[in-house]
Amino acid sequence: MFETLKPRPADSILTLMQTFKDDPRPNKLDLGVGVYKDATGLTPVMRAVKAAEKTLWETQDTKVYTGLAGDPAFSDAMIALVLDGAVPRDNVAAVATPGGTGAVRQAFELVRMARPEARVFVSDPTWPNHISILNYLNMDVVRYRYFDEDSRGVNFSGMMEDLADAKAGDVILLHGCCHNPTGANLNATEWKSVVDLLLKTGAVPMIDIAYQGFGDGLEEDAAATRLVASSVPECIIAASCSKNFGIYRERTGLLMAVSQHSAARKLHQETLAFLNRQNYSFPPDHGARVVTMILNDDTLRADWMAELEEVRNNMLGLRSQLARELQRLSGSDRFGYIAQHRGMFSRLGTTPEKVEEMRAKNGIYMVSDSRMNIAGLNAETVPVLAKAIIDAGI
Ligand code: PLP
Repeated sequence: MFETLKPRPADSILTLMQTFKDDPRPNKLDLGVGVYKDATGLTPVMRAVKAAEKTLWETQDTKVYTGLAGDPAFSDAMIALVLDGAVPRDNVAAVATPGGTGAVRQAFELVRMARPEARVFVSDPTWPNHISILNYLNMDVVRYRYFDEDSRGVNFSGMMEDLADAKAGDVILLHGCCHNPTGANLNATEWKSVVDLLLKTGAVPMIDIAYQGFGDGLEEDAAATRLVASSVPECIIAASCSKNFGIYRERTGLLMAVSQHSAARKLHQETLAFLNRQNYSFPPDHGARVVTMILNDDTLRADWMAELEEVRNNMLGLRSQLARELQRLSGSDRFGYIAQHRGMFSRLGTTPEKVEEMRAKNGIYMVSDSRMNIAGLNAETVPVLAKAIIDAGI
């Protein structure tokens, strides 16, 4: 039977990681993989996570199954973190999932179950796994214009023009903050126009929020999600704890289905639990429990927030340093967008050939679409990257 299997195209980021590993040059620079790294190149376990894990080890006396939705306390804590009361708790159905990817996958399955003919509008570009999962599920994908190649900001008029084509029952996938892969985000006024468009078209928003706290701050980064969720009749939210809690391998995420009536919640909750049952029964618990302990304990929460601020400010500092260095070397302001972008990524907006040139000549690794992970830099490597960018004629 297995002889019928066909080879799959290699995942470009995973291939890049392997090429980086095999590169013997000591000064090679990894700006490819999407994980946060400190100035020494380490992806640390956050202090509050270590402390919560210690307490958990000392106090946990069973590892018996949780419920199909995971621990309800995790849902409560995460709903409060993401929505902060923007929507009554009773209007939100939620299940724990294996990471943000699990939430995204379950969200698409929910849409397919409710409306097999739904089209899912995704930004061009978007996180490649969105499209890959949609294709795998045989769902209709429509790309909307998003990145403006000239300004490296958002092509908002193009985006709105394309989204105007959405119909009631279609889904519009939006990145809640820190757009991956571009780093370019909507401003508050633009988000209000998106809400108007959602109300006018009747399309259902699905918000993928994987970097809350990496952009402008924990509350600021959730503002758009809260605005949308409180303004439209129905909304789907996929949240990841991988980045902001630094628990990538623990696979911790939450899928939320928001409606304006608490009466709908029971059915939504049962449906989400059913989807969990079909795919993996009980969601992973370790990361979810650690997150719950941190969010529900004043001391741990304060420490987590302080460390997350350090992480965020480190990336902002690197952004300004890189933008300044590029301004100095180029004598122009054309790289100002790097300081404007938010989150871990910025898209340089150059060709795969120039990206390859920087890899071959300088050992600088970024994704071929010119997405670079700002967190892969430190104060010493910023000038190296800036020089390589100018030398490549970008
Ligand atoms: N959504 C976006 C936009 C992402 O960038 C990522 C991770 O890279 C995820 C979801 C999923 O993250 P995870 O499954 O690691 O929690």
